[in-house]
Amino acid sequence: MLNQWPPQYERSYIPPPYSKFWNKDLETMDPEEREQTVILPKLQAQLRYAYEKAPLYRKKWDEAGVKPEAIGSMEDFEQVPFITKEEIRQDQKENPPFGSYSCVPLKDVLRLHGTSGTTGRPTVFGISTDDWERIVEAHARIMWGFGVRQDDIVFIGSFFSLYMGSWGALGGAERLGAVCFPFGAGAPGQTERAINWMKETKPTVFYGTPSYSLYIAEKAKEMGVDPVKDFNFRILFFSGEPGAGIPSTKKLIEETYNGICIDSGSTAEMTPWMTNCECEYRQGMHLWQDIVYAELVDPVTKRRVPYGKQGVTVYTHLERTSQPMIRFWAGDISLWVNDPCPCGRTYPRLPKGIYGRVDDMFTIRGENVYPSVIEDVIRGIEGLGDEYQIIITREKAMDKLVLHVEPAKGVGPGIIPQLKQKLETELKRVLGVRAIVHLMEANTLERTEFKAKRVIDKRGLYEQSIKQE
Ligand SMILES: [Zn+2]
Repeated sequence: MLNQWPPQYERSYIPPPYSKFWNKDLETMDPEEREQTVILPKLQAQLRYAYEKAPLYRKKWDEAGVKPEAIGSMEDFEQVPFITKEEIRQDQKENPPFGSYSCVPLKDVLRLHGTSGTTGRPTVFGISTDDWERIVEAHARIMWGFGVRQDDIVFIGSFFSLYMGSWGALGGAERLGAVCFPFGAGAPGQTERAINWMKETKPTVFYGTPSYSLYIAEKAKEMGVDPVKDFNFRILFFSGEPGAGIPSTKKLIEETYNGICIDSGSTAEMTPWMTNCECEYRQGMHLWQDIVYAELVDPVTKRRVPYGKQGVTVYTHLERTSQPMIRFWAGDISLWVNDPCPCGRTYPRLPKGIYGRVDDMFTIRGENVYPSVIEDVIRGIEGLGDEYQIIITREKAMDKLVLHVEPAKGVGPGIIPQLKQKLETELKRVLGVRAIVHLMEANTLERTEFKAKRVIDKRGLYEQSIKQE
């Protein structure tokens, strides 16, 4: 039973290094029992807290006729309305800077982070000291689950800025007692320096985005550095892009570095964002349900879908006092299963990762297309490079899908027409629509140190130009 909410964790606790689990009882518990004895009591406490402290929730739930004390089961919980990104943004606009769901006084806020705001008003995260302690505890526990130990050197190769990812990874590594190397990314010349430092200090764990890890490897080879022989990575873990959950990209990263590739990450709003994370067996991200409760719901009926089905991710904090998210509609598409994992953990899994954000999906001639599916096709064809760009235009009211790709290094011009043909055939088979492939010269597509911008939809521009005519 729940003794205390929010839970308090022993800050000096570390399992013995041979232990596969940070908390074996909790991680391997019968799922039904865990739901009844751990998740539900935490959820009820979190709901009462949010109702009491956050005007945003109180108003919303009153309007929906939902009272926290009436939620007696996980089925009842489905009555609680969703909260969307847009509602949060609006609430922060009206109640700056943290919104009326902040729940803690300013003196208790430890960290300020935020979204980039590329798709509208940025969202401000004000995380309390107590929450941060629980966040790093959760991250340490999950990183332990994919094999990070105290004698590992964890290289954080992503931006240290507003971006929550780097800080969350660093916090987890610190709590776990690993050697932390907060290297960052994005400054001029930093990739070359990263390569030299990796060669010199031999970090064993890498964190960043999948596209950046591949860029580093490419750059290293140009510098005459072999990512397998000259580096020493045994674990590479990622968030921020779906790549690490795409089979061909996962395989490519594992072969490139000779280490295991771990997919992780929900969204920044849900920090501890690592509660979607693979174990060392890489059978899809586990949903660490007793920290953040994840549901997959049908986008139309809005009802929870059974295991084996696809749905949209909805997340609920179970131990956040600052800016708790209750049934946050994250908008990612995934499929969930609950069959056993070789690791022994009894959490459900997302065996195909998060294969698309509803936001990333585009529709071309009536077909829904996820960029991650195109990526999987490209990386499954030998002779093609890792970078690509998807360009969507409209010609005479017809959508046109153009794909820019590069040949892999060392591929002679003689084989180019064959590669183009092969990719076009495969795309037609998988997507159901025709794509026109342009094979560019090697190294002409833009490389990124962060999330790659790979879809350029020019159809809006086309419509604008029509209006102007
Ligand atoms: Zn597992």
